[in-house]
Amino acid sequence: MGGMRMGQRRSKRTRRAACVALAVVLAAATAGCGPAARTPVSATWDDLFGTVITVSLHDAMDEGEADAVLAAVRARGEAVQNAMTAHTPGSEIGAVRAASGRAPVPVSEDTYGLLTLALEVAALSGGAFDPTVEPLVALWGIGTGAAAVPAEADIARVLKLVDYRRVVLDGTDRTVYLPEAGMGLDLGGIAKGYAADEANRLLDEAGVTHAILDFGGNVLLRGGHPEGKPWRVGIRKPVPGEDGYACVLSLRDGTVVTSGGYERYFVAEDGAVYHHIMDPATGRPAETGLLSATIICDNSARADALSTACFVLGLDGALALLGALDGVEGVLIASDRTIHTTPGLADVFTVADESYVWVNAP
Ligand code: AMP
Ligand code: MG
Repeated sequence: MGGMRMGQRRSKRTRRAACVALAVVLAAATAGCGPAARTPVSATWDDLFGTVITVSLHDAMDEGEADAVLAAVRARGEAVQNAMTAHTPGSEIGAVRAASGRAPVPVSEDTYGLLTLALEVAALSGGAFDPTVEPLVALWGIGTGAAAVPAEADIARVLKLVDYRRVVLDGTDRTVYLPEAGMGLDLGGIAKGYAADEANRLLDEAGVTHAILDFGGNVLLRGGHPEGKPWRVGIRKPVPGEDGYACVLSLRDGTVVTSGGYERYFVAEDGAVYHHIMDPATGRPAETGLLSATIICDNSARADALSTACFVLGLDGALALLGALDGVEGVLIASDRTIHTTPGLADVFTVADESYVWVNAP
């Protein structure tokens, strides 16, 4: 059941959506209740990117105008999804896979640009983030209803097809070539972030100054709350079955993106839990002692790829990667419930649940 719901005034549905996301905006904690308080105009969609998306516009604007902006955001999100989702029939990414080992495939500027960014983050992270992970994701089938632990021999066979360094981009013809049959691309770790950036660009063009975009775990903030306060973004407790927030960030602008193993997983017959973020070094779900990795910066696609990369790298690797990047901050929650933050967050970060310990609190 899909659905566009527009012009809702902080509906029940919007609140439910807020609970689904990994990092969510704690709107209730910031919205004023005095006469000057404005109600946002929001839309919630549950049929894009396999997640729940909520866009809330907090500017005083007439509803027709707001609805037109929301419709444009929705249309752009659909276009991004249709080009970049690995298993959507007719997607560009699917066409590249179908032609693997045979021929380069021309792609849109969008897809080419995002793949270029994905390969950059792959190189930065030494392949912890790797958009050629598709055959491995398909082999495990996590999130498909047909998930199963594969045979070692199958993992080994498929791992030979996973290597971002083998992707051939040609900027002149704007083509993508995967040189071996069976190779494939999966932009599931970055495309939602790109869709959020594109939505943000549309809001910018429309002159919207205060807004929250929540693309199921990818939160993008514009301009702080209209009453002057920052937005408060909660990072969920990264444990299946535990509701609520481990910590909170107070921010006016920027994007907050979380990757966590608790988001999509299956439980095998022996009770072992396998989640959806693969470690291309082992061919198995990443087990590095991190429960979640959150990235804060000004580009949601980059944050999305980096959050996946940091989750795979584990605490030390993630801190080393983040330390080498300008303008990128991170919150890493380890399985012993310790929280590690990068130095730039000292003034905007608070712990929200006493069972978590902020190890490097100032
Ligand atoms: P995210 O929730 O952003 O961390 O992205 C997870 C999704 O990215 C998975 O559902 C896969 O589609 C894909 N993925 C899984 N492992 C990796 C990886 N190591 N590098 C890049 N993408 C991955
Ligand atoms: Mg990601």
